[in-house]
Amino acid sequence: MDSTDKQNYRKRLSPDTYKAGVLAGDRFILARAITLVESTLASDREIASWLLNEIEPFTGNSIRLGITGVPGVGKSTFIEAFGEHLLNKGHKLAILTIDPSSSKTNGSIMGDKTRMETLVFHPEVYIRPSPSGNALGGITAATRNVRALCEAAGFDIVIIETVGVGQSETAVKNLVDYFLLLMLAGAGDELQGMKRGIMEMADSLLITKADGENLQKAKMARLEYANALHLMPPSSSKWTPIVQTCSAITGEGIGNVWNTITAYVQTTKTNGFWEKNRKVQNIEAFHETLEVELMRKLYNNPENVAEVLAFEKRVAAGESATAAASEVLKKIMKF
Ligand code: GDP
Repeated sequence: MDSTDKQNYRKRLSPDTYKAGVLAGDRFILARAITLVESTLASDREIASWLLNEIEPFTGNSIRLGITGVPGVGKSTFIEAFGEHLLNKGHKLAILTIDPSSSKTNGSIMGDKTRMETLVFHPEVYIRPSPSGNALGGITAATRNVRALCEAAGFDIVIIETVGVGQSETAVKNLVDYFLLLMLAGAGDELQGMKRGIMEMADSLLITKADGENLQKAKMARLEYANALHLMPPSSSKWTPIVQTCSAITGEGIGNVWNTITAYVQTTKTNGFWEKNRKVQNIEAFHETLEVELMRKLYNNPENVAEVLAFEKRVAAGESATAAASEVLKKIMKF
């Protein structure tokens, strides 16, 4: 054990305390458990693996929602209004973010205190910013573990929010049951940075800020997008995506969003897609974790790092990247 390891060991709770605390919905222990599963220390990871395995039977009982849209579309304002609606219905809400761009500032929700002001202090809400990490793979793996802990702690709705500007939508899509795309009226698709692929992934589209002068524009946008969706290939969920409008300010349409989600849950649970989709996601999670762990093992060893850096120089000097990669694998992993 090195000194950081020792320090951490002192701060660490006993494995059974983590388990009992999480299952009892103790927020303090939940936060500690999340820190544990996000840790990269080898000694932490061992307990984290044990804990995740122990709580697995208590996970999966939530509705997992993905929410995306470009910055400024109104994600946090919507989540705040929508969250209030869900809390009034007696739900417990966990809100997680995946934002690779915020990894350096250690998450955007807490960094930007104006976001979700009313939800932050609500006893039935748990908000966790994007875990820090360099690679999206690592961030999604960590988010999946946090999701598991939140579910085991009794949160029955988990919202995973991402900024709709890159590949993180695909990552979120693979972590959720239902994927909601927030759109602005009057801004072209290009302006919104939306690729057709993102619309294809969405289970429904929501035109935000349908109030005041923007109301008519929002209604028109709803029709336009509804037409565009007709041209999309049918989804394997047998669910037909719909377009809705809402205003987080007036509250108009917020309840409809939840009604649509419950209809989706009912449809896909009845036709078997719900379960099938989760199985596929679990297998994907396994492969993704394997990849992340392999890289971690590789780079945890300084000799390997030195070897990789030496090969990096050779590639820079003109050697084939493919040849260098296979040689490095032969050398350090005995493949
Ligand atoms: P995010 O970056 O996607 O999280 O967007 P925000 O939730 O921070 O909202 C961006 C801006 O749009 C803020 O100034 C909000 O006050 C405003 N906004 C959000 N929702 C609504 C809405 O329903 N109606 C109106 N008029 N403004 C809104």
